[in-house]
Amino acid sequence: MSSRLLHTVRESDTVARLGGDEFVILLEKLDLEHAPSFAEKLSNSLDRLFNLADQNIDVSASFGLAYFPEHGVDSNSLLQKADVAMYSAKQNHSSYAVYSGTLDKSSRSALTFKSEFLQAIDCDELVLYFQPKINLGSGRISGVEALVRWMHPERGFLAPDLFIPMAEQSGLIDQMTFWVLKHALLQCAAFKSAGMEITVAINLSARSLRDTRLPGEILRRLVNAGIEPSMLVLEITESAVMSDPVATLEVLEVLDNMGFVLSIDDYWTGYSSLAYLMKLPVDEIKIDKSFVLGMAEDRSSAVIVRSTIDLGHNLGKKVVAEGVETLEMWNALAEWGCDTAQGYYMGKPMPAVQLMTWLKESTWK
Ligand code: C2E
Ligand code: CA
Ligand code: CA
Repeated sequence: MSSRLLHTVRESDTVARLGGDEFVILLEKLDLEHAPSFAEKLSNSLDRLFNLADQNIDVSASFGLAYFPEHGVDSNSLLQKADVAMYSAKQNHSSYAVYSGTLDKSSRSALTFKSEFLQAIDCDELVLYFQPKINLGSGRISGVEALVRWMHPERGFLAPDLFIPMAEQSGLIDQMTFWVLKHALLQCAAFKSAGMEITVAINLSARSLRDTRLPGEILRRLVNAGIEPSMLVLEITESAVMSDPVATLEVLEVLDNMGFVLSIDDYWTGYSSLAYLMKLPVDEIKIDKSFVLGMAEDRSSAVIVRSTIDLGHNLGKKVVAEGVETLEMWNALAEWGCDTAQGYYMGKPMPAVQLMTWLKESTWK
């Protein structure tokens, strides 16, 4: 990256790397009207593939432009304005954006989110809750799903739907996933040392699934923690799979070969091609809670749940139903031969300490 950038700028310009994937370029003696086309030129210089250890790597960059003295007269404010513009470029999937005052409001909240969320990861403001998955045949717990929450210092307890979309947008989702993995592995180790054969499931976002380094990184951390891959379930939503089917299939195959248990989450909500879904190397299908909850009211939900159980079994997959809130739902699913149930009827998501008590005292253990 550095050498490509250096070759594109002039002798009098400065190229610096701030850290991570952030670079700063200081262009002196440039007419402002030429700045956008220069950003375009820099961006083009990165278009050619990078060859790293015989692998071709496709890299893209977003440039944010801030002008002296229009946008700031000291380095701090210029850098900050450039950052704001860079976010806007990223969000619009364009190669560059020029700072403007109107960008400030939305970008400021994005920047605030980014710094707050980084702190949340570093200072363990995140908390993992665990929800039991119960075997419908034996009535015993077979696994737990790890679900993240954020104890925000000012806003209080935040559900994942309130921050995961922003974590994905700001590029911090991978850092969060590794935080979740670390704590999920601690729980795996706790089960193991208590002699309990209970799997732990984590959720992977669409963005993580396109990262070809992810499988190796997960495996490395697992081995370090002394946990078998078969004890870790990776839940992947159907829509995440469909957002980039080709790349995702590749990553899923690698994960499958490493011995992880793969689970398709929110099944049926994406209405994706059945032919494609059948090709996925997944072990388990999770029927979305909207269908399970709908069973009581409408017949079509019940039909979908029942036929998904049969379909899953015919494909050799285990079927999990989530959103099981009543004894009636439990009984229907058991009668239809569903393998596993998850829902408020058996247990809500709870912190690790409470889970251990639940395991001792609940009738479901
Ligand atoms: P999900 O993976 O489909 O998780 C199941 C959601 O259903 C959880 O909501 C859970 O609390 C809720 N649920 C479980 N049983 C019942 C029930 O009987 N009735 C009802 N009405 N709801 C039930 P939660 O914890 O708010 O999580 C929401 C979503 O946030 C998750 O949906 C998942 O997509 C995402 N999420 C949570 N943790 C993570 C994470 O660590 N990483 C990623 N990438 N996504 C996460
Ligand atoms: Ca899930
Ligand atoms: Ca789900």
